Amino acid sequence: MSKVDLLIDQFKEMANCTKCKRFSEKKTETDGCDGLINIFQNEQFALNIPSIWTDWINRSDSKLMIVGQDWGPYIDMERLHNKYFESIVEKDDRKKAWSEIVNEPESMTKKLMTEFIVQSAKEKGIIVDETILDSFFVTNAVLCARKGTNYRGNNNFKPKFCTENCADKLKKEIEIIKPLVIITLGYWPFYSIGKSYGIPVYKTLGENLVRYSSNINNIINISKDNAPTYVLPVYHPTAQIKKNDQISYYCLMWELLLTHYEKSVLLEQIHSYKDYRGKMDL
Ligand SMILES: [Zn+2]
Repeated sequence: MSKVDLLIDQFKEMANCTKCKRFSEKKTETDGCDGLINIFQNEQFALNIPSIWTDWINRSDSKLMIVGQDWGPYIDMERLHNKYFESIVEKDDRKKAWSEIVNEPESMTKKLMTEFIVQSAKEKGIIVDETILDSFFVTNAVLCARKGTNYRGNNNFKPKFCTENCADKLKKEIEIIKPLVIITLGYWPFYSIGKSYGIPVYKTLGENLVRYSSNINNIINISKDNAPTYVLPVYHPTAQIKKNDQISYYCLMWELLLTHYEKSVLLEQIHSYKDYRGKMDL
């Protein structure tokens, strides 16, 4: 089975999950803010949200992966979903419409993350532009969406509860994609992978970074076979951390990649974006 087929199967399985539906037994459905929304219950919806965080199909051959915390509000996914279908007049427009919306600047997180990747490459003598982001399978530790309009904080969100609920799903995605390097943004994505793979997770992100990403030799490999999968925890891009410090973590990614590929063929080796959506008639 291809990775695309495995992903689609995984999404079908995820449709049945109700773990994040309620945060507590006390509140009722009518409160509307208690729990998350499982976007996979509607496959056509989940497969047609144009953003880097939900462009899973075309990125299924990626050797690089980024795991963020959670997608944020459901209504924003809905807005992108609708925008996509509104911008399609003829069937042939789909590919263009998809890539245009996926590549919109979107958020500060995406903007900064791109800057750190491009800048760190430059420091290692590798010239890339913002299209390098196409080489990453981008996903979240929490694969359900928030109710309400908040991206930040714990409004309509319980980070530990939701991260633990979705940990198996993230693990399954990692096992399907089998990337060479996974970058985790902030505390909870690393916590999720740490728990799934039996890696000790320390109380603060800072401690985890000292232990697992202070130099190329202490980066952890979670793979059980000959093809390594390295996990590189970094600060969240919008964290109040000096830019140079942020960039130094992404430099480790390039150092790792250079231990696997010659510099002259590296970009060609990691380029993996394909129009699988077209093949699937999406
Ligand atoms: Zn969930």
